Amino acid sequence: MKKVLITGGAGFLGSHLCDRFFNEGYHVIAMDNLITGDMENIAHLMPEKNFEFHHHDVSKFVHIPGKLDYILHFASPASPIEYLKMPIQTMKVGSLGTLNCLGLAKDKGARILVASTSEVYGDPLVHPQTEDYWGNVNPVGPRGVYDEAKRFQEALTMAYHTFHGLETRIVRIFNTFGPRMRLNDGRVLPAFISQALRGEDLTAFGDGSQTRSFTYVDDLVEGIYRLLMSDYPHPVNIGNPQEITINEFAEEILKLTGSTSKIKYFPLPTDDPKQRKPDTTRAKEILNWEPKYSRAEGMKPTLEYFKKKING
Ligand code: UDP
Repeated sequence: MKKVLITGGAGFLGSHLCDRFFNEGYHVIAMDNLITGDMENIAHLMPEKNFEFHHHDVSKFVHIPGKLDYILHFASPASPIEYLKMPIQTMKVGSLGTLNCLGLAKDKGARILVASTSEVYGDPLVHPQTEDYWGNVNPVGPRGVYDEAKRFQEALTMAYHTFHGLETRIVRIFNTFGPRMRLNDGRVLPAFISQALRGEDLTAFGDGSQTRSFTYVDDLVEGIYRLLMSDYPHPVNIGNPQEITINEFAEEILKLTGSTSKIKYFPLPTDDPKQRKPDTTRAKEILNWEPKYSRAEGMKPTLEYFKKKING
């Protein structure tokens, strides 16, 4: 039986990856320090004999007894308000956490996939973003702690690949949504949905003309699985290229929830990217991957999840 370690395993993406690998017949070890993860996301896996939970901070030395076939490094605070609240932890998990995972992979002869991000493109001057674009990042701005940690993570991962011949994979993840997102993580989708369901004003930042492209979590997980199983060591964008402005998105959420809430405008956070949309040519060519779910299709289970959370 193949064994996989998933750091951030109790988080939004990490827990969906635990499910996928468990269902594929792997022995899954989820590691999480629970600063943003939630045991509820993996409660259904806890009784399984092929599932283990290790309560541990991956920024500290990691010990896993026995063999390990794959490592997926997904631990990190992942929303702007979280990395503003925890800037040092965010930098540590992207740098020291990645170093520990790479060292462990080398020791075990395991293949490793690291979770990178569209944030490596910063406030992009190239649109849509191809993997060859080097980005436009402010290293000392408030988002720099996340962006630069992830850029360092990519550099370190490539160094282990070229210097040690480690089998490495790098996925650049664009805005993803689905069940198990935290209601109060500050990201636009949980914010708008919970505001709409509670009849509160929707908090749009700036003039709402900035764009994002939202990917349903099952599509992301499929892309990650295919990338891990491929032999491709360079970064690959996984994201749905369906682009929308924040204003349009707010209207969409109001319609979807049948809410009579109003949209209220607040100042744009520093260095907030004006536009974001993945060029997915590489994912198509290398992985034969394309998103299957439209935003509307993904919204159905997502909205159900949020309704349950809010109504108890
Ligand atoms: N945003 C917003 N209202 C909110 C939260 C976010 O208008 O309550 C905007 C934010 O300024 C950004 C976009 O929505 O332009 C996406 O923000 P999010 O925090 O979800 O992720 P990002 O893509 O910026 O990392």
